Amino acid sequence: MKETWKNVKFAWEYTKDSKELLIKYILGNILSVIISIVVPILSAKILIALTSNQFHQLIFMSIIIFLIENVRNVCHYFCRHCSQVIYRESFTKIQTELGREILKLENRAIDKNSSGVFIQRLTNDTSRLADVFNVFNFYLSNIITDVGIFFAIFILNKWAFLFLVGMICIRFLIERTRVKIFKQQDKIFREKNEKASGFVGELVRGLRDIKMLNAEDSFSKELHNKIVDLNKTRCNMQDVDRKYNLLRGFTADLTDLLLILLLVFLIKANTLEVASALVIHNYAGRLPSIVNYVGMLLDKINDFNLSASRIFAILNSEEFKKETFGSIHLKKVKGDFEFKNVSFAYEEEHNVLEDLSFKVNANETVAFVGKSGAGKTTIFNLLCKMYDIQKGEILIDGININELDKDSIRGNITIISQNPYIFNMTIKENLRLVKKDLTIKEMKEACRLACLDEFIESLPEKYDTVVGEGGVTLSGGQRQRLAIARALVQKTEIILFDEATSALDNETQRSIQKAIENMKNTYTILIIAHRLSTVIHADRLLYVEDGKIVDAGTHEELLKKNKNYKELYEVEQKNSN
Ligand code: ADP
Repeated sequence: MKETWKNVKFAWEYTKDSKELLIKYILGNILSVIISIVVPILSAKILIALTSNQFHQLIFMSIIIFLIENVRNVCHYFCRHCSQVIYRESFTKIQTELGREILKLENRAIDKNSSGVFIQRLTNDTSRLADVFNVFNFYLSNIITDVGIFFAIFILNKWAFLFLVGMICIRFLIERTRVKIFKQQDKIFREKNEKASGFVGELVRGLRDIKMLNAEDSFSKELHNKIVDLNKTRCNMQDVDRKYNLLRGFTADLTDLLLILLLVFLIKANTLEVASALVIHNYAGRLPSIVNYVGMLLDKINDFNLSASRIFAILNSEEFKKETFGSIHLKKVKGDFEFKNVSFAYEEEHNVLEDLSFKVNANETVAFVGKSGAGKTTIFNLLCKMYDIQKGEILIDGININELDKDSIRGNITIISQNPYIFNMTIKENLRLVKKDLTIKEMKEACRLACLDEFIESLPEKYDTVVGEGGVTLSGGQRQRLAIARALVQKTEIILFDEATSALDNETQRSIQKAIENMKNTYTILIIAHRLSTVIHADRLLYVEDGKIVDAGTHEELLKKNKNYKELYEVEQKNSN
């Protein structure tokens, strides 16, 4: 109860702007509840008038019922409108807020959870939370209506009333057991659902790679297993529902049988009129729904608490920690930066970087070389504060990265990854994403420096060409050059370039190299070199081994002093010949 109250207060924060509508909605429901209580009493009067040939009264009553039933219809129409607006507005608020919070999450939290965790909470759970006041109101007003019918029966006959209360209590106990079992199964179902939708997300994103790997069969099998597993849990829930439905049906029929016997007994004992007995029997038929409504309301409360706790977890819990930044703002950085005795581990027990120190001056071009898994990409990640380090300091323009605000770091550094994400828009729009007021001249200049202008000019639609989802209509090299153009448009001082590992043709390779040459001396450029031949002209090369920089110097100097570097270079030369 305490938990529900806390969650209701939380949901209220997103609904309180629609307070007026909510009040109108509740008032509308109260009116229809009152009508639902009055109608059975009037119906009894109609039947009495019918059986005693009082036709004037019968016609009068029928017109009254017709009028108030239509007031109820209008109420329903109005309440429905209110509930739709309340839901729409609260849903937009909760979903936007949660989306914003997800974007603030630490990368560790993102790494640890599947995409399904975020998709499900951002869609299903927010929807359930936003609908809480409407749902509660719906069930409560139905329950109150049924209670009102009870009251009407009480007025008509107390024995029938007592009998029905007894039967309802029995049914309520049965329903409570069902709700308990259902709650446990729903939790399991949602966890499995998150896993399944995370897998579906990966399947869709990796569709092309799955085909290339010829791995359709194993993915289909895995998808099948996940769906079967999910369905098993769904089946368990449906089994419980079916069994309890059977029990519900049996008790409802038994109630009906016993009620008829009781009514006959009461008529024979002259304590009940036939007309009243008919009305009691008619409305008693609706009473089992009170138990169903109470059961459903309890289901909804559980459902709501589960959704709220899953959303709370993202908003507040330790498991989903948010990124933290300092307050110093640098509008434009010079581009100097330094790692001072930095140690870092993704997982607590295993350091990926160990006491790492190096300095890069503004406008220098520095390449990181070394075997795969040495820690080169990790250095890039740390420079953008994608993860917090455990020991040491990272300085940008002499200021500790932890003291800088987000814009000073990410607004001044661009990463051009191996496979940069290009959005399903025109080339022009992709470039305008990072600079809204981009002029045609600036755009063409950036593409010229990125060695992409000739290719774009050869397209029928030129800069207005739509490039497909993820830039699918472009080659890997073209995607990287478009990302370079994007960085040039953004004019960030530090550019981190993760060279593509996939073999690019020589011409593309040369174009990318030329694009980097064009940026040299104007930007601080760091390159992760997968092919040493592409970085031999860098100002400096840093050789990374097991999370440490073991050697630094120009290409020639490293050839002389580092055996591993020499070996790597020779293997590459041999392969290219
Ligand atoms: P490189 O770029 O030199 O190939 P990385 O910096 O990508 O190397 O990786 C260094 C080590 O860190 C590897 O052992 C890799 O498995 C591990 N690693 C990389 N990213 C993560 C991550 N998000 N979570 C856990 N371990 C990671």
